Amino acid sequence: MSHAAHLKNIQKRRTFAIISHPDAGKTTITEKLLLFGNAIQVGGSVKGKRGPHAKSDWMTMEQERGISVTSSVMQFPYKERIVNLLDTPGHEDFSEDTYRTLTAVDSVLMVIDGAKGVEDRTIKLMDVCRLRDTPILSFINKMDRDIRDPIEVLDEVEDVLKIAAAPINWPLGMGRDFKGVYNLYTDTIHVFASGHGHTIPPDTQIKGIDSPEASELLGSYADDIRDEIELVRGATHEFDLDEYLAGRLTPVFFGTALANFGVREMLDGFVEWAPKPIGRETKSHFVEAESEAFSGFVFKIQANMDPRHRDRIAFMRVCSGVYSKGMKMRHVRLGKDVKISDAVTFMAGDRESVEEAVAGDIIGLHNHGTIQIGDTFTEGEDLKFTGIPHFAPELFRRIRLKDPLKTKALQKGLQQLSEEGSTQVFFPMNNNDIVVGAVGVLQFEVVAYRLKDEYKVEAIYEPVSIATARWADCDDPKKLEEFKRKCADNLCIDGGGHLTYLAPTRVNLSLAEERYPDVEFRATREH
Ligand code: GDP
Repeated sequence: MSHAAHLKNIQKRRTFAIISHPDAGKTTITEKLLLFGNAIQVGGSVKGKRGPHAKSDWMTMEQERGISVTSSVMQFPYKERIVNLLDTPGHEDFSEDTYRTLTAVDSVLMVIDGAKGVEDRTIKLMDVCRLRDTPILSFINKMDRDIRDPIEVLDEVEDVLKIAAAPINWPLGMGRDFKGVYNLYTDTIHVFASGHGHTIPPDTQIKGIDSPEASELLGSYADDIRDEIELVRGATHEFDLDEYLAGRLTPVFFGTALANFGVREMLDGFVEWAPKPIGRETKSHFVEAESEAFSGFVFKIQANMDPRHRDRIAFMRVCSGVYSKGMKMRHVRLGKDVKISDAVTFMAGDRESVEEAVAGDIIGLHNHGTIQIGDTFTEGEDLKFTGIPHFAPELFRRIRLKDPLKTKALQKGLQQLSEEGSTQVFFPMNNNDIVVGAVGVLQFEVVAYRLKDEYKVEAIYEPVSIATARWADCDDPKKLEEFKRKCADNLCIDGGGHLTYLAPTRVNLSLAEERYPDVEFRATREH
């Protein structure tokens, strides 16, 4: 590929993830996006979702794993662009992976249930986006229902998420009276047509909110709606591309994913404004996406539980250069050159294996435990990408063995599972407990299952009163010693050998932070 063609190829990429609270409509909107991307002909199911009565245990998850590996990343073309959508596990499978996936994207789509407004999972995910000032585009969903006053929802986005909200289109009514959306910038109405949930809906437009056609569409609501739009223009932020790219302002679209309406308008805005692949920081310098030498980092590892393929897939974001089949890469941490002959690529729809991947793309590398989260791969350069952290767990359990003679195997298993990102493990300084920490509750089940299956260790969990964890550090060795002495009951060493403060309550954490101003309490830790 010539250099110019290579650059063009990179600039086409739009790599993003969806952040939302469970049930806001992420799965539904993903299906519609794939429909627009021609990736599926009929808006069928993206993944086998568990119904309310289905078992939600680890085995069920395993049966779905074959599908979930491929739905982890979905690549589809749309309007001259190549869109990479990275799945962010959301329901019971919410985990640290969800957070870490956000380090591998260039922007996010925030889906909000219009009736519920900003919910807590979204707040947490937004905090992660803040670490890199990731640009956020918003979709307020479920306009076919009676939702809250749209102005109120925007206010909530601004107040709770601390980001300016700039409506691009405005809903004309809602619920049964939903007539469509009005683009505030083009003065165009896109008329709602129901019954197109599984197809690409027609795009019927009316030019001008003051036109006779608009009056006819809006009927007795016409005057109220025009007044409202006047008000909205005056009272909301105007779209500003630079502010969006800086992560300070979110353009907002309204629609209904279920009826596949407003999704196209949102997608059009997305491919127009969302950033092309952004370079990444390393320990030594910033790597531009356009640089020619290949580089990438691993942000997620998925164990393959199929007994016939006991391998793992490491998900790598390509940061620069080109991956091509059969190429040699340097596994920097191990200082080894490895030949990659069969990386998994993720073209939704026709699953032709793609032979090349460029900056912004994701590839999957088969391995048997030699790859860890945060690992850097290059064409030979000694680089180490930063910004792929561990996130402080929010759930904790004490783990106990059924057979006390298996302590070694337990420690080994936990160590490896924590390197893989399935869990985090903590060894308290003042006792012989082992504490397991996770971001999502299903992680505990996964860990217990895998300990038994792969390490032949039967373990049980016990509740433990820990509310949150912070990695602790202090430049002043004397102050650090004092802190270690006085807080020994709350301190432990994590699987990576780092000093960690386990707080029984949030209040306790605040007090500790106040009492030890020279100690840094960090909610993330680099690999
Ligand atoms: P996820 O948990 O965020 O992936 O949410 P889903 O896409 O599974 O949606 C949760 C529920 O909301 C499902 O029953 C969907 O059918 C429903 N839903 C999604 N979008 C809409 C919408 O625009 N309108 C209505 N009325 N329901 C929707």
